[in-house]
Amino acid sequence: MISLKSKREIEIMREAARRLSIVIQKLKRSVRVGMTTYELDQKAEQLIRAEDAQPAFKGYRGFPATVCTSVNQVVVHGIPSKRCKLQTGDILSVDLGLIYEGYYSDAARTWPIGRVSSGAVELMEAARRALFVGMAEMKTGNRIGDISYAIQTYVESQGFSVVRDFVGHGIGRALHEDPQVPNFGKAGKGSKLEAGMVLAIEPMVTAGGHEVEILDDSWTVVTRDHELAAHYEDTIALTEQGPINLTGPQECKGSSE
Ligand code: MG
Repeated sequence: MISLKSKREIEIMREAARRLSIVIQKLKRSVRVGMTTYELDQKAEQLIRAEDAQPAFKGYRGFPATVCTSVNQVVVHGIPSKRCKLQTGDILSVDLGLIYEGYYSDAARTWPIGRVSSGAVELMEAARRALFVGMAEMKTGNRIGDISYAIQTYVESQGFSVVRDFVGHGIGRALHEDPQVPNFGKAGKGSKLEAGMVLAIEPMVTAGGHEVEILDDSWTVVTRDHELAAHYEDTIALTEQGPINLTGPQECKGSSE
């Protein structure tokens, strides 16, 4: 069942998302070559708690950390580790969420570590743009499949693939609510979009094939062909006035994300 949020609920979710967006901007500024993903996770937890919020992922189905840190061929759900040091040329996907006044917010970004290949830059850019292509279809009367189809068509037009095994989702009082929001599919199919829906749209884009595997830690999702992957996610509310990207860049002391 899809829960439609009231204006008041969307206002709380907007505040939750604003706090998450600030955490992400500060986290981005703290990333350094040589830093471990464990250190990054510690920093993220500090920043979330400083916003009077709680980490949404820590303990979720047993996930051991605040942030998913997914480096290079890792698509999603990478576990922060003292053994994983960020190196020049890596691309790092961070996926994190928080709970504020009982409401969840969820977002992901892929960042270059130092200088990265032009192919990696194109891949990250495709994932970022795919989110906005999908968001543009988020309007009353459209269906979930319109978002899915737009994302898939855009990503494949750039010569990349979309992951099938993991999808976006509704979000609100729970991290994962109905409906599922696949990054592939047919236009005109699926649930109708209505004002009050809040969706986490999250293209997972791979440089090679779309097939993925889960490692023995039962979390880490990697591309089967070990090609690079990028992930971009925002929490977006559909209102009477159209979609609002709640976790989009915020004013944060003149910095841009
Ligand atoms: Mg998500």
